Amino acid sequence: MTKENGEIYDLLDGMHGNADCELDFGTPFELLVAVVLSAQCTDKRVNAVTEKLFKIANTPEQFVAMPTEELEKHIFSCGFYRNKARAIKELSASIIETGGMPQTREELMKLRGVGRKTANVVYAVAYGGNAIAVDTHVFRVANRLGIADAKTPEQVEEQLMSAFDDKLWSHLHHLLIFHGRYVCHSRTPDCGACALRGKCKYYKQNTRSAL
Ligand code: SF4
Repeated sequence: MTKENGEIYDLLDGMHGNADCELDFGTPFELLVAVVLSAQCTDKRVNAVTEKLFKIANTPEQFVAMPTEELEKHIFSCGFYRNKARAIKELSASIIETGGMPQTREELMKLRGVGRKTANVVYAVAYGGNAIAVDTHVFRVANRLGIADAKTPEQVEEQLMSAFDDKLWSHLHHLLIFHGRYVCHSRTPDCGACALRGKCKYYKQNTRSAL
């Protein structure tokens, strides 16, 4: 890892040292369901939904047994509720078929209804594995800072994994999410409040072009 990237990591950690998963869950399976629900939805909304939902169902068997229409009603407010209900039903059936909740990234990714980002989050947060899940915040902030220069989430993931020590991956992922969520907003990044101005490719380019 370069000295520059170490400094960027430390500055992010200085701003968001408490960055962590903001989804509520009690088991790895609950986290998996919560991550599926969190696509295009706030963690706050997901937590409100799962607080009620997990009292009714929180195992693969219970979700398989639940009628799809009932599941859709519970998760309606998370958006994309039909796709998300289908994914939860599929991953639940898949877990039962494979004999239990997988604990490796590769096995998680083999579950029906589970994509790469979701598998990475569950692997890192529930099992303490080293992984970088690239969501919209991670994608945007990594490219703006210049610690990645990529057109796809997979490329960002690969570049960040090459650029940072593996034991930092999981926390780096949370740092980038927090930075994107609370400072480096999509439309109007709050550069005035950002400790990374001196390191940021986007800031340097936009400051120069404004002169
Ligand atoms: S300086 Fe601005 S664009 Fe760069 S990381 Fe900070 S908030 Fe984002």
